[in-house]
Amino acid sequence: MSIMIFSQRKDVRPWLKALQDARPDLDVRVYPDKRDNSEVTFALAWNHPMGAFRDFPNIKCIASMGAGADHVLKDPELPQDAVVTRIVDENLTHDMGTFTLALALSHLRGLTGYKVHERSHVWWPQRYKRPADVTVGVMGLGVLGAHVAQTLRLNGFTVNGWATAARPLDGVRTFAGAEALPDFLAQADILICLLPLTPSTANILNKETFAKLPQGAYVINVARGEHLVDEDLVEMLDNGHLAGASLDVFRQEPLPAAHPFWSHPRIDITPHIASTTEPASVVGQILANYDRLQRNEALHHVVSRQKGY
Ligand code: NDP
Repeated sequence: MSIMIFSQRKDVRPWLKALQDARPDLDVRVYPDKRDNSEVTFALAWNHPMGAFRDFPNIKCIASMGAGADHVLKDPELPQDAVVTRIVDENLTHDMGTFTLALALSHLRGLTGYKVHERSHVWWPQRYKRPADVTVGVMGLGVLGAHVAQTLRLNGFTVNGWATAARPLDGVRTFAGAEALPDFLAQADILICLLPLTPSTANILNKETFAKLPQGAYVINVARGEHLVDEDLVEMLDNGHLAGASLDVFRQEPLPAAHPFWSHPRIDITPHIASTTEPASVVGQILANYDRLQRNEALHHVVSRQKGY
């Protein structure tokens, strides 16, 4: 029984160390590995090479190394009977709350503008809005979206949320399903995307969606780059409908040096750091699932292959 780490872009050394510190006797391998593939029963994956699981006949669980599992589910050769799991972690959740709060407040107070003027030694006081003057719309009310909604509400914002079904969330008005989307968008001065990437959410941040937001709205995408139609964002910024955007995720990461987002004056870019999985913080839940698998018990944080999240 072995665990194998499949990842193309992550530095896997902290993961190896965290697993070995927690369980020194465990056989943990890193793909590719020349030993007997049939011994591997548990995969830990982040942007694995497509089709890599094909040669591992006994993989029973594929654990995403992050909260999203889209990178696992998009593999057309995903083993049919393997359970896919994801990370649900207090640190990850908390970090997403503080990060989106920071972006929303930075937008209200115009901090990016002051940085630009500071470079030219220009004293440039501007009027600002307070959280109470602003409604935030959070797309996706799962583990992260619900927490972000509460964090913003507790800091004085009026918060609406959108999900597939209505759900009770303290002080947050929720909108459900495609038919409620126009109403939800019409009230969102700041739109935060925290949807999982699925066939029905891909490209959802497009021209038609942006057109339904109030004039001067601000867009924050911390979910996946494929949610956003890049050209549509630039068009809606350039025609003045949108005030600006903060983007943490991109169709291609790292964002290519020639991408127009880099030089757009009203787009702020961060390199997919909204909330980062800390190996030491999550190996406990990964090993708990590994143990549950040996005992044939139901695993935690299972992703629905049918829903795609
Ligand atoms: P969850 O699976 O817990 O929640 C997903 C939410 O999206 C649910 O509320 C669900 O609705 C809603 N949803 C899904 N499909 C639709 C749809 N078609 N229409 C309306 N609502 C929909 O996900 P998390 O909150 O844990 O994570 C969200 C995403 O954040 C991840 O998938 C990942 O891509 C991204 N992420 C980004 C990070 C970063 O650093 N930038 C870090 C971690 C995650 P319902 O409740 O009705 O099922």
